Amino acid sequence: MELVEKVSNIDSNYIAIVLIALFFSLEQILNTQLSFLKRKQHLLQNFPFYILFFVGNFAWAIFVVFSIEWLNENQIGLFYYIKLPVWIKLILGVAMIDMVTYWFHRMAHNIHFVWRFHRVHHSDTSMDSSTYFRGHPLEIFFWFGVSNIIATGIFGLDLITLGLYYVIATPFFVIEHVNLKFPSWLDKTLGWVITTPNLHKVHHDQDEFYTNSNYADVFIIWDRLFGTFKYKHPNDIKLGLKEFDHPKKQTFWYLLKSPFININK
Ligand SMILES: [Zn+2]
Ligand SMILES: [Zn+2]
Repeated sequence: MELVEKVSNIDSNYIAIVLIALFFSLEQILNTQLSFLKRKQHLLQNFPFYILFFVGNFAWAIFVVFSIEWLNENQIGLFYYIKLPVWIKLILGVAMIDMVTYWFHRMAHNIHFVWRFHRVHHSDTSMDSSTYFRGHPLEIFFWFGVSNIIATGIFGLDLITLGLYYVIATPFFVIEHVNLKFPSWLDKTLGWVITTPNLHKVHHDQDEFYTNSNYADVFIIWDRLFGTFKYKHPNDIKLGLKEFDHPKKQTFWYLLKSPFININK
């Protein structure tokens, strides 16, 4: 397999582009809460992040490909020592990547240095499908680089498993941020196992009690299991972060430099 082919197998930008185009259109049609002009401004603010996200993802994917191939060649990881059918290893592998991502997300909220970068994603006060790629470019390294390499290293996973994880997880990343109303019965049924959009929105609430909850991207089971699951009705959620609740703190340049400055000024 060529390097570009391997990279595109674990880099699911193409899925994200299709889904964001679809949901951004649906948001225009189905949600009349925000004027088109406001939505356009919001997209323009978030768009530069997308460019950096796209380039950053591709660059780190090359690093991830080489690292995982090295780990596989040296047969490092738990699954090399357990005899299981390939399809079970694949399903378990996807679940384990999601669990490691859960713990990294939890760390991102609890280690102040990492939070300074991660809070850029949380700063959005009017979330929509474009919020998915609103994240500090240096943070991509933390998720896409460190978290994935550690997950594959511990469990002995390969590029196919990681690629499958991103095919499954990318729709979650986009839909979790969509600015549409989702019925609460979804939270009481599917919400026992997977992260529904309303459950992820709880994670984006300004109240710190709720910000530090519902960390899971795909399987909300991790939050239920490790005691960080919380619920708040979507109508009571105020999105964003108090420290960024001002238009001048919502611009691309401000957000880009925000990890390195005193934001309370
Ligand atoms: Zn978070
Ligand atoms: Zn989010």
